[in-house]
Amino acid sequence: MLEINNLVVQIEDKRILNGLSLTVNDGEVAAIMGPNGSGKSTLSYVIAGKEDYEVLDGEIRLDGENILEMEPDARAAAGIFLAFQYPLEIPGVGTMTFLKAALNAQRKSRGEDELTTPDFIRRVNAAADTLEINKDMLKRALNVGFSGGEKKRMEILQMALLQPRFCVLDETDSGLDIDALRIVSEGVNALRAKNRSFLVITHYQRLLNHIVPDTVHVMAQGRVVKSGGKELALELEASGYAEYRTNEAA
Ligand code: ADP
Ligand code: MG
Ligand code: MG
Repeated sequence: MLEINNLVVQIEDKRILNGLSLTVNDGEVAAIMGPNGSGKSTLSYVIAGKEDYEVLDGEIRLDGENILEMEPDARAAAGIFLAFQYPLEIPGVGTMTFLKAALNAQRKSRGEDELTTPDFIRRVNAAADTLEINKDMLKRALNVGFSGGEKKRMEILQMALLQPRFCVLDETDSGLDIDALRIVSEGVNALRAKNRSFLVITHYQRLLNHIVPDTVHVMAQGRVVKSGGKELALELEASGYAEYRTNEAA
């Protein structure tokens, strides 16, 4: 479903992705691991369509269509979702207002009617209960004053509501305590489906005990340098990233 071929990306004249290729099939959970600075977040931003990144070569195809030609909104409408490594605080935008706008934009792009308010509230409450999100949080401005774990749960809540086709989770485990890690992982696992795929970016193996991947890819210096099954994550945990770290300042 998602096919990345020879992706070359730079920012401010600095080459960050160097011919990255990766395929994620329907229903697959693919983990991306790799040392700091290997380009994992850059990859997630380029998939989502964040500006500032200059794509010099390559393509990213979702169901055959090259999404690099699409605006971020169009990518979201096509079912691409990015859960951020550092979710932004948005003062002045209520969480419920934001969620409703996101859902209705998606429905509009599909030619569907807006949700009624009771239907919307019912859906949000159901997802919030599953993710153990306090109803008071939903009354606050988006992410403002949320703890690290609450922000990550809010990302998964958005994912649960939008039911994306392709989900990218960028270090969703960072900053989570063990309970939040379990809640977030259960939320993700509940969304696993034949017509949905995940790219789970993580620095540590820990998350992959909870979200068990079908495939594991190691990124180093802007490309995928090794791919394997879930056992590859365990090997990395044992061996570390030393052998992949050749270019990094010591
Ligand atoms: P990772 O998520 O694997 O830690 P990143 O994608 O965040 O890696 O970063 C990859 C490399 O690109 C790093 O060397 C980082 O310093 C550099 N980089 C990322 N964003 C920018 C930017 N906006 N300007 C300049 N360099 C950047
Ligand atoms: Mg990093
Ligand atoms: Mg990162």
